[in-house]
Amino acid sequence: MHNAEESIREAAKKLLSEKKVDLIVGHEQGTLPLRTTPCFIDKVEDVPKLVWNENCDANLSKYLIGRKERMGVVAKGCDARSIAVCTFEKQIVRDNVVIIGAPCSGLIDKKKVRTKLEGKELLEATIEDEQIQLKGEGFELVLPKKDFVCSSCLTCRHKTPPIYDVFAGTKVPEVEADEFSDVADLEAKSSKERWTHFKEALDKCIRCYACRDVCPLCYCKTCFVDQTMPIWFGKTTDLSDTMIYHLVRAFHVAGRCVDCGACSRACPMNINLRELMKKTEKIMKERYNYTAGLSLEKVPPLGEFKMDDSQEFIK
Ligand code: SF4
Ligand code: SF4
Ligand code: SF4
Repeated sequence: MHNAEESIREAAKKLLSEKKVDLIVGHEQGTLPLRTTPCFIDKVEDVPKLVWNENCDANLSKYLIGRKERMGVVAKGCDARSIAVCTFEKQIVRDNVVIIGAPCSGLIDKKKVRTKLEGKELLEATIEDEQIQLKGEGFELVLPKKDFVCSSCLTCRHKTPPIYDVFAGTKVPEVEADEFSDVADLEAKSSKERWTHFKEALDKCIRCYACRDVCPLCYCKTCFVDQTMPIWFGKTTDLSDTMIYHLVRAFHVAGRCVDCGACSRACPMNINLRELMKKTEKIMKERYNYTAGLSLEKVPPLGEFKMDDSQEFIK
């Protein structure tokens, strides 16, 4: 990743100095250990701020929506895939964006790491040689990195962005992971058990909408949950209202979700939202042989209308 970090900085410097872009969106070191934050760079002298590591978890395609400037963006596989979806949906102007593709080795799941801290404050963290070293007041811990990788990254098959303009670093070969292994348990349940499972999981939801706000594909100016004329459903945390929010959002991202995992990572209540999204992704794959964000040309199954469609489902 450090080789990639240098290459990202070189690419950013070149793009800014040749005035090919007005702004670079990338990641910079955060103020807490294991954290990075999105950053916006418009001067060559600020380029050294850019970092690239296992903590660069923000999906930066979110910051390209509706922008008028020419922007360079640092993109891992899932970021590039959501850029492709949003470009196809005319939310991003492809000609205004230079994608600096970056190889990804998977993100560290901070929630998993936190379980090892047992409430102690983390003051320092380094990731080297496949190990995570953590230090705080009176403790030191060394954890194997492989056990603390985000679930979406464990089964990701597109760690090298499928779409980019400049590539930084060395490409990661596509792996033959069973990308739907995480929904096997869900599928083994009866429909009654599944309903109970989702009821129990979603009952914890506090309707903070962090999952929506972080999702690169939730870009509607007025989300259906905020609409007041008409009000489509209640704004309480009663299970029936919460369920509707999650079911409608699942329909909205069906065939578009790129499994970046940002929604699950953002949830303060640790709800495994990915399970529902991954199941819809699997349905899309099985019924339409479609995976979102791999191409700028292929029309998504829910994005096309054919006059001669048999429409057998309404017969
Ligand atoms: S889903 Fe893939 S591309 Fe995205 S962060 Fe995880 S490993 Fe990287
Ligand atoms: S629904 Fe979740 S996993 Fe899918 S694109 Fe949005 S944030 Fe990423
Ligand atoms: S982030 Fe979690 S708690 Fe907040 S609305 Fe989404 S599921 Fe509910």
